[in-house]
Amino acid sequence: MMSRFLHASKHNLKAYVPGEQPRGRKYIKLNTNESPFPPSPEVQNCLTAEVMAENRLYPDPEMTALRELLAKKLCVSPKMIMVGNGSDDILNTAFLAFAGEETPVAFPDITYGFYKVYADLYQLEKKIIPLREDFRIDASDYFSLDSLIAIANPNAPTGIALTLGEIERILQTNPDHVVLIDEAYVAFGADSALPLLKDYENLLVVRTFSKSRSLAGARLGFAAGSEPLIEGLNRIRYSINPYNVSRLAQRAGEAALYSDAYYVANVKEICRIRENTKTALEAMGFEVLPSKSNFLFTRKAGCEGEKLYSKLKERGILVRHFSQARISDFIRVTVGSEGDMRIFLENVKSVIE
Ligand code: PMP
Repeated sequence: MMSRFLHASKHNLKAYVPGEQPRGRKYIKLNTNESPFPPSPEVQNCLTAEVMAENRLYPDPEMTALRELLAKKLCVSPKMIMVGNGSDDILNTAFLAFAGEETPVAFPDITYGFYKVYADLYQLEKKIIPLREDFRIDASDYFSLDSLIAIANPNAPTGIALTLGEIERILQTNPDHVVLIDEAYVAFGADSALPLLKDYENLLVVRTFSKSRSLAGARLGFAAGSEPLIEGLNRIRYSINPYNVSRLAQRAGEAALYSDAYYVANVKEICRIRENTKTALEAMGFEVLPSKSNFLFTRKAGCEGEKLYSKLKERGILVRHFSQARISDFIRVTVGSEGDMRIFLENVKSVIE
């Protein structure tokens, strides 16, 4: 029942529905694109009793240590970095900062579901741009839009990536608006737009520690952009919650940045398992979109996506299904460990038989 206290402007708001985080029954969890690997040993050992005791004090609202590490890694100034409570926090702040009256927000019809939710929450005008027939983004659909543009690269839930050249054309044709490139999954094979930062003041790159750095539970993301964009984001952040990232998360993030070799090896392994899983699904007659992410988006003619999702769930395997036009016959499967994928494939085989 809707609270009579909820303001009328929010009565039609459809909140984001996150993927299930099951309690109780133990599932093979392939539904929210987490890493099958634990955080690095450095991360696992960084939360000492001493660090815990420091929680008496508020965290550094500037996240200085973390930003300096990130800046060094990305070869930019720390003034070009803002850290958030997951990349969702960054996206929220960016939608508030860079769109509003007379500045709509543009994004694909099939993409990360939160873009629409933020747009509706802030009552922004939306320009929803259909993916092409083959589920690709056509960059030319985003030229000269007079809008904030939000594009996930690779896109979710398709996994398909744009080239840097295509992103650069979007930046060039929208010089007076922010182009937000959400790189949640970029480590798994797409080209990052970070090298374009030096030439485009309107580029905001959004990244997360949730996927390739195995830290979904810590809630850590960041934005990299020109100093004016980061100043704008910080103005919003300091107007809502300057302590948006806990001491513990900041510590874990710093440790994660000292563990590159560990994470690079994990990403390589996930990509290898992804390609093997794709081949196995294709051998069973599935169509699998070309993924540059840590998930596969797949369907089989004559096989309902929702049914496949439910049958797999009954068998203890959680994948994601979206009841949305054009993609309701697909399931999205996070690439898990080799063992997880073996069990997933065995069960898919017996379900379709
Ligand atoms: N962007 C995309 C495209 C995503 O799929 C997700 C994960 N659901 C996020 C951003 C948010 O991730 P997080 O808040 O964990 O950084």
